[in-house]
Amino acid sequence: EELEKQVLDALPHGLFIGGEWVETDATIPVINPAKGEAFAEVADATPELAKTALDAACDAASEWAAWKPRERAELLRRAFDLIESRKQIFAALMTMEMGKTYKESLGEVAYGNEYVRWFSEQTCRIEGYNAIAPSSGKRILTEKVPVGPVLAITPWNFPLAMATRKIAPALAAGCTVVVKPAKLTPLTTLLFCKVLEDVGLPAGVVNCFTTNHSGATTGPLIADPRMRKITFTGSTEVGVGLLRQAADRVLRSSMELGGNAPCVILADADLDVAVQGAMDAKMRNLGEACTAGNRFIVHESLVGEFTKRFTERMAAQKVGYGLDDSVNVGPLIDDEQRSKVLGFVQDSIDKGGKVEVGGNPIEGPGYFMEPTVISGIQPGSRILTEEIFGPFAPIIPFSTEQEAIDIANGTDFGLAAYVFSRDLKNAMRVGEGIETGMVGINTGVVSDAAAPFGGVKMSGLGREGSQLGIEEFLETKYYAIPLD
Ligand code: ADP
Repeated sequence: EELEKQVLDALPHGLFIGGEWVETDATIPVINPAKGEAFAEVADATPELAKTALDAACDAASEWAAWKPRERAELLRRAFDLIESRKQIFAALMTMEMGKTYKESLGEVAYGNEYVRWFSEQTCRIEGYNAIAPSSGKRILTEKVPVGPVLAITPWNFPLAMATRKIAPALAAGCTVVVKPAKLTPLTTLLFCKVLEDVGLPAGVVNCFTTNHSGATTGPLIADPRMRKITFTGSTEVGVGLLRQAADRVLRSSMELGGNAPCVILADADLDVAVQGAMDAKMRNLGEACTAGNRFIVHESLVGEFTKRFTERMAAQKVGYGLDDSVNVGPLIDDEQRSKVLGFVQDSIDKGGKVEVGGNPIEGPGYFMEPTVISGIQPGSRILTEEIFGPFAPIIPFSTEQEAIDIANGTDFGLAAYVFSRDLKNAMRVGEGIETGMVGINTGVVSDAAAPFGGVKMSGLGREGSQLGIEEFLETKYYAIPLD
């Protein structure tokens, strides 16, 4: 409770536009999903106010682009240090608005803040190249220049990391930003803006608006000729709609969309490693991650033993409010999400799956459900093609390697996959057969600020993190220089 109070005292109020905190008459309640009740309110931007955020980003664009890379780097580095010094507040706030446990929230602060540090370092590594045209001999000189004002739209599942993964590389590249966080978890992004203000980011370089009207506010921004880039993380459905709008302005687009990660456990897997990897892939962030293990595809020779051990681990999870130290699984984000996950559970049972543990909502306040394992998933079950986003692990046996690959690829998604085997050659062969942007081998965690995060197929466009992450915010400009 002491921590809850500190968090409330630390919260900024209003929209962050042009370096000012702008309050609105209308507000949006922010619900603690463990309690099912509001603990704070945020401003509700109208389309007119959202437009002023873009005005501010445009006004600040040339000054920010002219800052020396070293100066931008050092500002980002100061932001990293300040977030680190406020990590308890960030973590408790994320537990309060999103539901994950405090320990996991601290993990997200470390992970999310690493993007700030990583891109502070990348700021000084923006390089073009020179060449000599083979026939004419003219000189080809290239520069990397900031794309210009960016619209970032972020989801609720990683309130800090999704913001830093977009805003840090945009700032590193010399772009200004308008960010719209999800209304379910708007406070963490506002607190991040407070950090940027405190380290001296010039007014208008980052602007944040929270709103109840996502389409009505973002639509005009995407259509505005001054906007140069959209970067989105969220559902494939919304991403497709945003891409359609972006097409009208040929707006550069980065999309991190849904996933349906297969977790393939080969006959020669080390079961200790596989069970731990399955727990990490499934239960990290309560399963509310686009990289979450969605289908546990296990060789028939191991499936009995794997199911037994995995079920024991899932059954031992303590569900409750994430600020309570003994808890290791929090609530789902809202009742709608919980109903959706329980719908997948019911569908898997209806199609012939067997409940090993869980399967039910937990009565009382908050949006809790039991960690759930269902074995013997039958063809036609919805989870084979749809994304679960919750603590439900479906198990599917296979006999041949090709069968496992075919099941793994039997979805429109292609974000992450996990393969478990004692033999790296077998794991690589299967990994190469699976169409995803990322493959974890003998691990249930792929995310890393230094690694390229992103998907193929309907999981998205572009990469975040790594050296590639900054390229999404840079244009290549070429100068032709004949010397004769
Ligand atoms: P999820 O809720 O599964 O994370 P969504 O795609 O619904 O994914 O939401 C991700 C982000 O996109 C949120 O910030 C949300 O407010 C925003 N969003 C949802 N619908 C629209 C829309 N039609 N136009 C612009 N942004 C939207």
